[in-house]
Amino acid sequence: MTRNEIIACEQCDLLQLDAPLAAGSTLRCRRCHAELRRDRANGPAYALAFTFASAVLLVISNLFPIVGLSFNGNLVQTTLAGAVRMLYEHGTWPLALLVALTTIVTPVLQVVAMLWLLLPLRFGRVPWRAAEGFRLFQLTRPWGMTEVLILGLLVALVKLAHIAKVVPGTALWSFIALMLLLAAASAAFDPRDAWARIGACQHNARAWLPPPLRRRRGALTAAAHGLALCEECGLLTRQPAGAGKHVCPRCKAPLHLRKPASLSRTWAYLVAAMVLYVPANLLPVMDTSSLFGTQKDTIMSGVVYLWVSGSWPLAVLVFIASIAVPMLKILGLAYLAVSTQLRSQWLPGQRTRIYRVIELVGRWSMLDIYVITMLVALVQFQALATIKAGPASIAFGAVVVLTLLAAMAFDPRLIWDALEKNHVRAER
Ligand SMILES: [Zn+2]
Ligand SMILES: [Zn+2]
Repeated sequence: MTRNEIIACEQCDLLQLDAPLAAGSTLRCRRCHAELRRDRANGPAYALAFTFASAVLLVISNLFPIVGLSFNGNLVQTTLAGAVRMLYEHGTWPLALLVALTTIVTPVLQVVAMLWLLLPLRFGRVPWRAAEGFRLFQLTRPWGMTEVLILGLLVALVKLAHIAKVVPGTALWSFIALMLLLAAASAAFDPRDAWARIGACQHNARAWLPPPLRRRRGALTAAAHGLALCEECGLLTRQPAGAGKHVCPRCKAPLHLRKPASLSRTWAYLVAAMVLYVPANLLPVMDTSSLFGTQKDTIMSGVVYLWVSGSWPLAVLVFIASIAVPMLKILGLAYLAVSTQLRSQWLPGQRTRIYRVIELVGRWSMLDIYVITMLVALVQFQALATIKAGPASIAFGAVVVLTLLAAMAFDPRLIWDALEKNHVRAER
């Protein structure tokens, strides 16, 4: 594979030359330090092995009980699907849907998509409907939250250990192994490299080579050269003239210079998240009914309970994940959207870094949702105590999803466009 190609940075659109990589090293953008490419020498082989193991563990994890609670000789056990069903039966179906999508459906689709692509490539063949397989892989990537589920399970177990004896199930261990294997599989799998391999197997690969650049002073970005970077497969192509929909010639994903209506979509999701953040924190997130009456807990009173009962590390963890992270995410994205709208040229590198942090930590706010799911599924001792999810849990789940969508809608390249336009103007 030649490494003298021109590539564009996904986060600031800067054009630069691809370079050969030493084993295990990473190529970073010289302007915004985003990762451009990482050396994965045996990537495809490892990814395939990890994906196979994940597929096996996925079956075990979903068939066996995760955890049981034993009280006075009664043992209540639940599988993940059982926990989802309990949420549904209590009428909190949006929550049931969210948990099912992020912990059962997405990991299954992720494993299916990776096997679909990696298995034929292993034997040097072009995967059947490769473009659709990739679309599925990219679609599921942000929504698989197995690692957050594990942390949620651990928090729930500590809470439950105060009430009754906790019996870890087979699926708990297999979920922990699954979490590690899925992370290893997606770290070893490089979509751009896989596309390069597919290109090598196909005849029309020449059409995918990056087009030659016309010399143009001052223009540093792909967009300034009329080149569009495909967000799905990383191909750099000339943006065809004229309006209308353009698709990537390689993976058939919609092609545009910048995410369409990026700022207005970011604002729409953000404003909705801000509005729902209020009920999410004020209304009860959990209703506990016991012999001593009913108790309604908000997110904050749950944190206080953990703190008072002596498990302060968990109190800090839940506070950060459920209260601090969503708020900082909303404020951070609002700051990025406002400064971009005002075409600010102030510290673009720092602002791109803020965006990367927001993308990285966003998913961890789901923690409390999984804690509630497990508590609802297990604390079902009719005579003694039952737990139901409160209305705030649905609002909170919506806040998490909306902030994830807002981060996806925001295009960090817009931060750098403010500099670019000015630069070009100054040159003229
Ligand atoms: Zn960059
Ligand atoms: Zn593409």
